[in-house]
Amino acid sequence: LNAYGRFEWGTQMSRLVLLLVATLLAMAIVLRSQRLRRQSRIDRLTGLPNRSLFDERVQAELSRARRNREPVALAMIDIDHFKPFNDTWGHAAGDVALRTVARAIQGGVRQSDIVVRYGGEEFVALFPGMGAEAAVERAEALRRAVEALTLAVPRRHQSARVTISAGVSVFGYDGTEAEDLLDQADARLFQAKAAGRNRVTGPPPEADAANYSILRSFESASRSQHPENK
Ligand code: GH3
Ligand code: MG
Ligand code: MG
Repeated sequence: LNAYGRFEWGTQMSRLVLLLVATLLAMAIVLRSQRLRRQSRIDRLTGLPNRSLFDERVQAELSRARRNREPVALAMIDIDHFKPFNDTWGHAAGDVALRTVARAIQGGVRQSDIVVRYGGEEFVALFPGMGAEAAVERAEALRRAVEALTLAVPRRHQSARVTISAGVSVFGYDGTEAEDLLDQADARLFQAKAAGRNRVTGPPPEADAANYSILRSFESASRSQHPENK
């Protein structure tokens, strides 16, 4: 007999069992909430990550770009005339188109690039380390790849086609915040649409040359703020 009462193996063992059960339950809850969080960042239709993952990753990529004085390009991609596509071929065919276009875009970029379904028929691609000219070239390749697709229309022996338009922006020349890059890409996407669709609009040709000194100015700024970084 001690201050806690009589020591009995039976009660000690049942306490251990209860502790074990509580631990297992807690682990199950943690695993489940992790899975739910992962799923909430994945778009069910296309399997691509969604906007919330982009919003998270873009900050990390931009701070890395600032630190390393490297460019990052962004492309906003939108399927052309997708509302009439749905009206003509049906919503199921629209879903096939979305999945197929998503796969073509994901398949046409580097592993380290980030592609998300940003909204309904809109995708955003982030190209770390890429300048404006290279990113426009890449977006142009994606445009050609989508143009070449033939989409099987569900329940009809017919095939359909889609095209995309894209607007490209670049870190530094177009600004330093994610919002700046999204706004500029969106404005150029609008220009691409207005110019007839199935095309890519990028920053003006002087962007990469201008970025050479813009990105270097981040270097001296960060060094003067952190003299120990020398
Ligand atoms: P624009 O060339 O200017 O982009 O014209 P648009 O018709 O593509 O543009 P709008 O924004 O008017 O239409 C977008 C359409 O995308 C409307 C909506 O029905 C379709 N859409 C959005 N999400 C989905 C989806 O998950 N599945 C299907 N099938 N269609 C979708
Ligand atoms: Mg569209
Ligand atoms: Mg749209």
